[in-house]
Amino acid sequence: MTHNLEPQDGHPLRRVLRVLVRRDARTGRSETVPVEAEIHTLSPDGSPDTVHYRTTQVLGCLHPVDAPFGGRCFDCCAEVCRACLFACTACRKPVCAECTRTTADAGPLCPRCAGADGRRRTARRVLGIVFGPFVEKREE
Ligand SMILES: [Zn+2]
Ligand SMILES: [Zn+2]
Ligand SMILES: [Zn+2]
Repeated sequence: MTHNLEPQDGHPLRRVLRVLVRRDARTGRSETVPVEAEIHTLSPDGSPDTVHYRTTQVLGCLHPVDAPFGGRCFDCCAEVCRACLFACTACRKPVCAECTRTTADAGPLCPRCAGADGRRRTARRVLGIVFGPFVEKREE
């Protein structure tokens, strides 16, 4: 069996897999994607367990693909949802939540601007006020 959704504990007794076959209408080539699995195992303490796995498509930020799309982080190239995409307060480039460096006196900064010296600190502070509430809201 090649479609392994998750590493399994215990001893699998039976696996029921549901796969999606995607077929390219032009080339005729197809690929199979596991979407759902039901795995019956005997747990180490002897109970028969059934585990359902479902595969769901997510963005680079691990939010569902149907979340409002934000864009691509210019630093790590992850495609993230709108809630996870920030504009660097110094260079205005889009940066994902993972790459954002938030400082006390400035808003979200990209790794490059966070590492730069403080020549543009005044500009950052002004913009930081604008972005401050936005950042707090996202962290709820
Ligand atoms: Zn990033
Ligand atoms: Zn997200
Ligand atoms: Zn920047």
